[in-house]
Amino acid sequence: MNVVFLKQFLLFLNSLIMHILRTKNELRAWVSLIRAERKTISFVPTMGALHDGHLSLVRLGTQRCHHALVSIFVNPSQFAPHEDFDAYPRTLEEDLKQCEKAGATAVYAPGKEDVYPEGFQTQVSVSKLKLPLEGVFRPHFFDGVATVVTKLLLQVLPDIAIFGEKDYQQLQVIYKLVEDLDIPVTILGAPTVRESDGLAMSSRNRYLSASDRTKAAALYQVLGQARKEIFDGKDSFSAILERAKENLKKAGFTAIDYVECCDAKTLETATSLGKPLRILAAAKLGNTRLIDNIAV
Ligand code: AMP
Repeated sequence: MNVVFLKQFLLFLNSLIMHILRTKNELRAWVSLIRAERKTISFVPTMGALHDGHLSLVRLGTQRCHHALVSIFVNPSQFAPHEDFDAYPRTLEEDLKQCEKAGATAVYAPGKEDVYPEGFQTQVSVSKLKLPLEGVFRPHFFDGVATVVTKLLLQVLPDIAIFGEKDYQQLQVIYKLVEDLDIPVTILGAPTVRESDGLAMSSRNRYLSASDRTKAAALYQVLGQARKEIFDGKDSFSAILERAKENLKKAGFTAIDYVECCDAKTLETATSLGKPLRILAAAKLGNTRLIDNIAV
């Protein structure tokens, strides 16, 4: 009787602290412990530098499952050599505090060698969805994302894994790879969390100068205006999207990578209403590249 009580008490104490897991062996041991108690796990993969957008996913996870797990790993395979891997913000101490505050039970923060040991050579590639939009400008990106997300999902096999609609094409790639590879995990897409002026929260917003930060709000406004014009139906989609690009330039954006209206699931170019659509955009303010999207 006393032993049972002691075991329950230790399990209770264990549940009060947030576990920091540095290797996949520690991760597996933690998952086994939770599964032995027949408890559910939600999982939020991130690259850290956490803001309220990330934390909204963690909080959602705590509502849906007994335990919320967060991973923090700046994934080198999704950065091209000229991109900002080295400069990507790393704020682990602060991230851990934020995860704990949001109710996470554990954080997996592995080193590069734990995820990509020497000799690693396997890649997951979602061949069609990776091509348009972001894929045109970052051809390596979705193979890197798909590979690391597959690895993480297979280690944890959570009940649900939560991803933000902020990275809309990424979310569609993940839905597809989970479906195609029969990974027994439910993927949940969560709405984009925005600043008060509409700018989607992003780890990269901190790179914006004060004046660019003011201009950045135009991205969401332009998407909203394009959506309105698409509903009004007075112009062709292509004319509306061209106007949106012009408006971004007028607002001070220095390069417009794309503003496109696509089928919300396949991401094929859309030219008429009648099914769920999404307008997606990527544009630069100086050296900072922002992406956003809106449902139609
Ligand atoms: P990242 O650390 O940028 O790879 O993002 C980790 C997860 O957080 C991804 O599923 C993102 O889509 C999601 N996320 C990033 N920014 C936001 C936001 N503003 N609102 C909701 N989710 C977000």
